[in-house]
Amino acid sequence: MKILVINSGSSSLKFQVIDSESEQVLAKGVCERIGIDGRFTYKINTGISLKEEVPMSNHTQAVHTLLDTLADPEQGIIRSFSEIDVIGHRLVHGGEKFTGSVVITDEVIDAMTECNDLAPLHNPANLVGVDACRRLMPDTLMVGVFDTAFNQTMEPKAFLYGLPYRYYEKYKIRRYGFHGISHKYVSQRAAEFMGQDPKRVKTIVCHLGNGASISAVKYGRVVDNSMGFTPLEGLVMGTRCGDVDPGALEFLAKKENLDFPQIMAILNQESGVLGISKNFSSDFRELKDAEIKYNEKAALAREIFAYKVAKYVGSYAAAMNGVDNIVFTAGVGENDSDIRQEICDYLEFLGITIDELKNREHAEAIRISTGSSRVNVLVIQTNEELEIAREAAALAQKILRPDRQA
Ligand code: ADP
Repeated sequence: MKILVINSGSSSLKFQVIDSESEQVLAKGVCERIGIDGRFTYKINTGISLKEEVPMSNHTQAVHTLLDTLADPEQGIIRSFSEIDVIGHRLVHGGEKFTGSVVITDEVIDAMTECNDLAPLHNPANLVGVDACRRLMPDTLMVGVFDTAFNQTMEPKAFLYGLPYRYYEKYKIRRYGFHGISHKYVSQRAAEFMGQDPKRVKTIVCHLGNGASISAVKYGRVVDNSMGFTPLEGLVMGTRCGDVDPGALEFLAKKENLDFPQIMAILNQESGVLGISKNFSSDFRELKDAEIKYNEKAALAREIFAYKVAKYVGSYAAAMNGVDNIVFTAGVGENDSDIRQEICDYLEFLGITIDELKNREHAEAIRISTGSSRVNVLVIQTNEELEIAREAAALAQKILRPDRQA
């Protein structure tokens, strides 16, 4: 099957076409600056690549552009749109309603719209992408894959805050956890790479990108995830603060005469390693370069980041009463060997030892711990698009070709 994977944001829309049998990426690209002017980047596996300005005043035009290019006789990979069997959409927040992937119907869209106030930045943007695809390909099966769904196995002891219970009952205020698509893919790939049964291992996945989260996956089920009601909780991130005492925010609001939207803008956009480094950078490569040149605040930002990751890993080892695999993934986790080493230095008490040479290698999946390390430490490249394609193909298989089911 050919699966079109769509990740729709407020002004950008990323896409990939994946062959579900070979798991090869046939084409990929991104529509950017939607509603502003429009920029289209596109690449196919035979080598053709495009980067051009294409007017895109809305998401429907963006989807139009990508579909026309995919079906173009010279640059495309399909002869007609009907060759796309399924469209898999990345959807950020499914609340408590969605514990797995779903076929997108009017009812699902209504239920998702109800979740909009849980993720006001992301969900409406996701739905605009869904709507654009439904307009242009009304007969194609669409599957929604939620970033919160994998985390829905968390128990109340992990997902409830120490707030009055009535607010959970009334508004569903609780921890949801995010990056679930990545945590699922990476935890399963780790078990596969190590030749383990995923139902028998305890894995901690450190998804360290611009947004960063950690999950504890015990026997294939998430027991905890460091992000919370929103993706602001947990680790110190590129520009997000992570865990902060709400009392400090009230104090700050009073001192600087700030209202809630202003405070939230500071926490989301001006904090994290960017804020700690006194606005030097949210990019870990730039922070590392600056650290080498004795920029103290850049060094401090990286130090705080690593310390916080190690603390979460330690607490998740306790939450699962042990850990077999610790996996690093996403931009920082996959590429920054110094941060990995620094984090693992804190974890010697778990019997972890790192092979310094292996830690500097690059691969789709690699074990960087020594043979005598009591816990496997791995680096695995995340692949959220492939996970979405797999989920979409599995659901489509059930619906389109039920006869092929075992
Ligand atoms: P997101 O998807 O949340 O935007 P990514 O997973 O793409 O984030 O990660 C982006 C981060 O990865 C950036 O902070 C960038 O600095 C970092 N990164 C990418 N390559 C490297 C590298 N070689 N060394 C250190 N950090 C890197």
